Amino acid sequence: MVSSEKQPHAVLIPYPAQGHINPFLKLAKLLHRKGFHITFVNTEYNHNRLLKSRGSDSLRGLPSFRFETIPDGLPVDPNHADATQDIPSLCKATTTTCLPHLKNLILKLNDDDDQVVPGFIWLVCDAVMSFGVDVGEELGIPVAVFWTASASSFACCLQYSQLLRRGLVPLKESSYLTNGYLETTIDWVPGIKEIRLKDIPSFIRTTDPNDIMLNFFLREMERSQRACAIIINTFDSLEHDIFEAFSSNHTLPSVYSIGPMDFLLNHHITDDHDELNKIGSNLWKEDQECIKWLDKQEPNSVVYINFGSITTMTNENFVEFAWGIANSNKRFLWVIREDLVGGENAILPNEFVEVTKIRGMLSNWCPQKEVLGHPSIGVFLTHSGWNSTLESVCNGVPMICWPFFSDQMTNCRFSCNDWGIGLEIEDVKREKIESLVRESMDGEKGEEMKQKALEWKKLAKDAASYPNGSSFQNLDKLIHDELLMNK
Ligand code: UDP
Repeated sequence: MVSSEKQPHAVLIPYPAQGHINPFLKLAKLLHRKGFHITFVNTEYNHNRLLKSRGSDSLRGLPSFRFETIPDGLPVDPNHADATQDIPSLCKATTTTCLPHLKNLILKLNDDDDQVVPGFIWLVCDAVMSFGVDVGEELGIPVAVFWTASASSFACCLQYSQLLRRGLVPLKESSYLTNGYLETTIDWVPGIKEIRLKDIPSFIRTTDPNDIMLNFFLREMERSQRACAIIINTFDSLEHDIFEAFSSNHTLPSVYSIGPMDFLLNHHITDDHDELNKIGSNLWKEDQECIKWLDKQEPNSVVYINFGSITTMTNENFVEFAWGIANSNKRFLWVIREDLVGGENAILPNEFVEVTKIRGMLSNWCPQKEVLGHPSIGVFLTHSGWNSTLESVCNGVPMICWPFFSDQMTNCRFSCNDWGIGLEIEDVKREKIESLVRESMDGEKGEEMKQKALEWKKLAKDAASYPNGSSFQNLDKLIHDELLMNK
């Protein structure tokens, strides 16, 4: 705990997407419990969505935990399709809009002479909102960047510039996307013995040297390395070799693994626990009915299907998934976001709807952490988003992986090849899905994956344990070595 007369002030600014706001809120709560005053900066678009889905109570905060907003350049029309799902436009909007507003906000917080906001400021910006590093340099305040995905995906993104230098990226022509080129294996990413190009975060899949996302990541990686520290929501034993490689990379600032934060938060219960618990970050309203349904199911009997906040698919894939799940004869909870099927409405075959009445439950957004922690869940069919992957690890639940884009490719590869807790769907065909569901619920491989998942769950708990867990110690080290020393 830092002393109260010198209470430091952490300003946190996540990238405005669900998979970033969730871990940022957890980090903010952890820092608050360590004695920090918190200013949590949402962009306007997401602030309005949070108000709509959670009500104003959830954003009222506490005197020492406040919310601020800055413009993000996104459309204000509430009927506009979800503007945070068009990733290139979102990156362009945040990059061109946010910097001066963040700077003004920090100047305002610094000049707050009514003493409501105490202490010196420490900025924690998302690694993909790394204009915060420029703001920090200009205003002379320390900045840490938070990479909300895995350490392995960060290690791969750091190599984007090297992939360009070696002429592997951009792709020579678009046929390289399908002609097997992406199977090319490279063995020079520090900390990763071998990785295929197809397992590297997907923004390298372009033929255009001026591609928005490729250049976005090149710039974000360059700026992130100028921060005073890099924070990652993972734990050492899960990605040990990568952390070894980071520690011998002298162009990188110190990198701190501080996950899984859900476990760390369990150790930091304070008097304001209930008040803090009310602050949530789900952009969609959570359906509690699915928990009631799960309560009626046998242990390890349910296939949980959820593709996160951004993934979309064709109606053809959607129907194949439906039949694969139905034909497995297993009970299932399928979360179908209203815009899951891109540009169209999801049309489920009538017969599938009948199957659902007998042994399934459909929902459009669920309290995922609670679902994954429910004893009835046997396997998680996931898009391999990092938060979903880590939440599955924390609950000892094996996965069937269907990565959609970005770092999900890397998470899938590590889950299936290195950690032994995943089976990959390579082709969305009903027979394939049926057999993967059966194998993971009843087969030998499924049993092995379950055992492995329980082993990782234990290691995750160890990492967050008091007082010697690596993440527990890293969080203290981050606060004392980087923040308090840099003030
Ligand atoms: N989530 C949830 N309910 C849902 C779907 C997702 O609470 O129905 C949460 C999930 O627990 C995770 C986040 O939303 O914390 C999704 O992040 P992830 O990195 O897995 O995927 P993304 O949405 O960024 O693709």
